[in-house]
Formats: sequence, C-alpha cells, structure tokens
Amino acid sequence: TTMSIPTTQRAVQINRTGGPEVIEINTAAPVPTPNDNEILVNNQFAGLNYIDTYFRSGLYQPSPYPYTLGREGEGHVVAVGSNVTDFKVGDRVAYTGPNTQAEYTVADPNKTIKIPDEIKPGVTVASMIQGLTALTMIRESHLVKAGDSILVHAAAGGVGLWLCQLLRIVGAGKIIATASTEEKLELAKANGATHGINYTKEDWVAKVKEITGDQDEPGVIAVFDGVGASTFEGDLEVLSRKGSLISFGNASGSVPPFAIARLAAKNIKVMRPQLFAYIAKKEEFTAYANELLELLKTEKIQVRIHETYTLEQAPQAHKDIESRGTTGKLLYKL
Ligand code: NDP
Repeated sequence: TTMSIPTTQRAVQINRTGGPEVIEINTAAPVPTPNDNEILVNNQFAGLNYIDTYFRSGLYQPSPYPYTLGREGEGHVVAVGSNVTDFKVGDRVAYTGPNTQAEYTVADPNKTIKIPDEIKPGVTVASMIQGLTALTMIRESHLVKAGDSILVHAAAGGVGLWLCQLLRIVGAGKIIATASTEEKLELAKANGATHGINYTKEDWVAKVKEITGDQDEPGVIAVFDGVGASTFEGDLEVLSRKGSLISFGNASGSVPPFAIARLAAKNIKVMRPQLFAYIAKKEEFTAYANELLELLKTEKIQVRIHETYTLEQAPQAHKDIESRGTTGKLLYKL
C-alpha cells in the first residue's frame, strides 16, 4: 500500500568530510523506495547524535556519497513492503537506522516501534539512540547493581542525562557526574547524580578517590565514558578492583592503543559497546524498546530537549553539539 509520495525531498547530506561547512541541504534528493521487507516513513522529527559529527568529520567512514546524515527518526508510515506484517500505512512510529535527516527514510521494521498515544511528538525519537544506549549499557556492558559506585562522564549530555536517571532508578549508590560547567553539574544532579565534578577545572581523579574514600574498597566499580581520549587514563586510576571501563564514545577523540597488561593490577575489564550490536535481533530491539516506551509513558524518565532545529540549521546544530554548549537532546523538526 502506498500514499501519494513525492519523488524528491529535502535531506541533510555531505559529499565530503570536514567541518560543519561540508553539510549541504539537498532540496532535490531522491525519495528512496522500500523493498519487500522494508517500510517508508515520512519523518516529522529526526535526532542529532554525536555520531553524526563523526561521519561528517571523517572519524567514521560515510558511504556512499551523497551521504544523508542521521540515525533515528519519527513520523508516519507511508508505504509498506509486501512481506511486512507488523506495520501499516498511517502508523505513528520511531526507528533507528541510517539516513534519517530527510523527509522520507526507508526503515527496517525490526528496528521500528509504534508510539503509544500518551507519548508526545518528538519524545520517542529523542530517546531512541541515547536512551537505548544508556539502557543496554547498564544491563549488558556493566550490569549495575544496587549500591554500586558509578562514574558518568559528560553527564549533562544526551546519553549522560539518561545514564544519571537510569542509575537512580536501578538504585546505584554514588552516581558521580563529570561535566564542564557548574550549570551542567546542577542539571546532572537534578537528574539523579549524587556528586558532581567539573573535570575541566578540578583534579577529577583525586576527587573521585576522595568521594569514594569511605568505602571498603575506594573507587568506582564502573565508568561510563563517552568522552574517550581525554579521560581514559584517569578512568584506569579511579576504578576499584574488578571494575569495568565502559568506553562508548570519542567526543574528545578516540582512545589510543594501550598495553592490556596494564589491566592486570586491579583485574580491570575494558569494553567498547556499540548500540547496534546489542539490538541486532528483532527480539532484542523489541524488548529494550518496549522498556523504553514504558519509562516514557509512565514519566519515570524526563527527556530534556536542548533545542529543536530545522534541517536547514544542520551546520549550526553540529557547531552547537561540538562546542560543548548543549545539554540533553538536539532534535530536527521537519
Ligand atoms: P553529548 O550530548 O554527550 O555531547 C558530547 C559531550 O561530550 C559534550 O557536551 C561535552 O560535555 C563532552 N565533551 C568532553 N570533551 C569534549 C570535547 N573535547 N569536545 C566536545 N565535547 C566534549 O552527545 P551524545 O549524547 O550524542 O553522545 C555522547 C557520547 O556517546 C559520544 O561520544 C557518542 O559518540 C557516544 N555514543 C555512543 C553510542 C554507542 O553505541 N557506543 C551511542 C550513542 C552515543 P562537557 O562540556 O560537559 O564536557
């Protein structure tokens, strides 16, 4: 089944890698056609994630050109492949997958979820990547247990605010947040952090040791680190015996190679999770996505939208997230 669908559309694209200036708004990009196993979504919102800056800068390889940015979208289903039984034209959905910063995106039904009426427009898409990343990490990267002392870097960012809230919900003990300003630390605390450290001004390693100094074994049992290069060495120092360093991003650059023998002194685990490898199977995606919808429906989680941009403002949105001036989610409204 199909609705009336145009042949061209607006899309946020790049034809080469570089700074925000390489972003182009193509006003005549072809509207893609779903195959028998896919659906076509008319997007009302698309999320911006730090990963979009990695594809734009060339840290990750975009292919093929022209490359449409974006990894999550929300809107209405406008066409359904003949083998697809879970979705119909008109369904209000959110999904993860490539090329979402455009009016129309071909989506994988196994990475798509229907949005319950109770959840306001834009909230589900704002939670897809950042919320699912936080949720999968506290379950599978390091299963957080009640009372655990945990360190969250960039705690006022998109993933960071999700982590603070989820850690509070699962009953973590000390939830130690780092961020670059006092306002960000206050926000992290309002979202569940018990302690805040300005890692651009204070000796954060010493501070974590001080905060956890009253424990039987000082230090944190896990670090959730999306900052990467600039925090990795300190993470090894603040972890307690048998701790886990969960390195999930590169906002300050990628972590350089290191000698694994360095992990032996405290039996440290280092892992580098990636959301899509946790939700590869339909049942995995569905279980986590349903849990996410429940958290949103019951308002156990508050999703903070930093700003809503038009597609045309994409270069500015990239400048904003890279300038460290944002908190929570950056969204595009179409
Ligand atoms: P954020 O909203 O967290 O923005 C990034 C934050 O990183 C900034 O606000 C800033 O906070 C902090 N930061 C520290 N050093 C730097 C630096 N040198 N330059 C810029 N920012 C810096 O973004 P997201 O929530 O979208 O993503 C957070 C991290 O999680 C990213 O590394 C991203 O790649 C990763 N990620 C990984 C996923 C996975 O599957 N592995 C999935 C989703 C996200 P402050 O000013 O407080 O330091």
